[in-house]
Amino acid sequence: MAHERAQAIEGLERRIAERTAELTAANDVAVQTGKLALLGQMAAGISHELSQPLAALQTLADNAAELLKRNDPDSASSNLQLIGGLCTRMGTIVGELKAFARKEPARLQPVPLEQVIASTLMLIEPIRHASRTRIETSTVDTDLAILGDGIRLEQVLVNLLRNAMDAMEVMEAGAERLIELRVLNHGDTVTLSVRDHGPGLSKDARAHLFEPFFTTKPSGKGLGLGLSLSQAIVREMGGQITASHAEPGAQFDLTMRRAYLDNTSGRFEPPPFD
Ligand code: ADP
Repeated sequence: MAHERAQAIEGLERRIAERTAELTAANDVAVQTGKLALLGQMAAGISHELSQPLAALQTLADNAAELLKRNDPDSASSNLQLIGGLCTRMGTIVGELKAFARKEPARLQPVPLEQVIASTLMLIEPIRHASRTRIETSTVDTDLAILGDGIRLEQVLVNLLRNAMDAMEVMEAGAERLIELRVLNHGDTVTLSVRDHGPGLSKDARAHLFEPFFTTKPSGKGLGLGLSLSQAIVREMGGQITASHAEPGAQFDLTMRRAYLDNTSGRFEPPPFD
């Protein structure tokens, strides 16, 4: 009897192991398929974004050579300046893609929010100053930490703050440009929200916000990759990102799992439910 039970348990364990392996493989395939689909979309978008400045570079270079032959260095020089501008633009495009091409997986560890917010604000300061925006932040408990990757979380926050400032560009000169950066502790999760007082999300934006290459910004200013990248980063960290129309303005909420400070060791520990 005992032998039969042991055999039954062994059989059950084997089936569980097989099923787990199947599910893991299926998940890997789903991730790969998703990445490939995104890659296809990106390849189309990138070739479109790069082919136009490339064609312009060709024409400008031909013209510059011709102008030098005709002994008109001033006109040749202005063509060369345009060439420089196009190179900068193509560099920006390639730079955005680099963030996507990172190979190493996110390293999840406790990230104290106070520090992340401080370095995000430092990174964004030049743009904030130039756009005369005020960023209001809630005070954050020194002990409050989330499970994630600090550098990537900063990338996401910088991106949301930049978008908020871009959105408020259309406001009248005298209107106050204000962004509220709030932290809400729910216990096992923490929400960071970025709310601006701009025009808010259009119907079109609400429908396509997180799709790669969706942008309403002029060519050269936005590639439409910011939010799709941010979403991929946040998901990789086990969190989620949502957007809402805030009347006035738009609000983006990042919800992350919390990491706890162990009072005896003084170290941050991953959430207990893991
Ligand atoms: P990009 O900034 O290059 O356009 P994103 O993916 O970051 O790419 O944003 C996509 C689009 O979403 C923007 O072009 C804009 O139309 C809309 N959007 C993003 N953030 C905001 C915001 N805070 N307010 C209004 N619209 C926004």
